[in-house]
Amino acid sequence: MDSYLLIPFQPVIAPLWLGFLVAGFLGLALGSFVTAMAYRLPREMKVGAVRSACTSCEHPLSFKDLVPFFSFMLQRGKCRYCQVSISWRYPLTELAMLCLSVMVFLRFGLSFDALLMVAIATCLLLLTVIDLEFLIIPDVVNLVLAVLCTLLGWRFGYGWEQMLIGSLALGCGSLLLRWVFFLWKGVEGLGLGDVKYLFAVGVVMPVEGISLFLMLSGGIGVAHAVLWQQLGYGKRFPFGPALAIAFFIVLLLPELMVYWNNTVYEIIYGWF
Ligand SMILES: [Zn+2]
Repeated sequence: MDSYLLIPFQPVIAPLWLGFLVAGFLGLALGSFVTAMAYRLPREMKVGAVRSACTSCEHPLSFKDLVPFFSFMLQRGKCRYCQVSISWRYPLTELAMLCLSVMVFLRFGLSFDALLMVAIATCLLLLTVIDLEFLIIPDVVNLVLAVLCTLLGWRFGYGWEQMLIGSLALGCGSLLLRWVFFLWKGVEGLGLGDVKYLFAVGVVMPVEGISLFLMLSGGIGVAHAVLWQQLGYGKRFPFGPALAIAFFIVLLLPELMVYWNNTVYEIIYGWF
């Protein structure tokens, strides 16, 4: 079973330490970008040109306060000006972005495609953090994701018909699911943000990857929903994180897709 996703990437030949340096630097810088955007986008604040400030005392932050992760550790998690504790969410988000970036570069080497993949991972982490707090996925994140996925589809050698079919398959499928759920339970099962997200990532989703993607997002989503209710966060829960993790796994490990499809095929074949 062949897939377009398995077309080999062509990395720049570079020593490993250089790869780690680039991945680490980019990961921390983008992690800092994600924390800033995750704060500003849902609050409809200006995205650029505004200097970051302490959310408690509103003192503008200097360069010293803005070194990702390290500032937090050096200041022991407190604002230098008002001593109010800073949420662990910020260094955690920066570390998560660092890990995503290193994973992408380990997998794809120093290449244009790795940069593209890191940009996609940035969107995925951003929508995860926002969805966890606000139970929404902002349109602008889905829009940027759609553009990046189209670029990646072009790098994979997809034709526009294939991208359109993939997008419509996931997007319309989820719209149908949302409608059925509404008729059945009378509540909104799948948010419109999730539907738009599926239209966006469907662009680059190969037909062979859909079953693995659905299995992963379903599995992670159910586990997350159980945890969410156990922790007492209420009935509505964000599905975005599960969708983001599942998509990242399919992109990073296309071998898993081949393995999963073969397993499913063998099980179904065994029945008859
Ligand atoms: Zn402060």
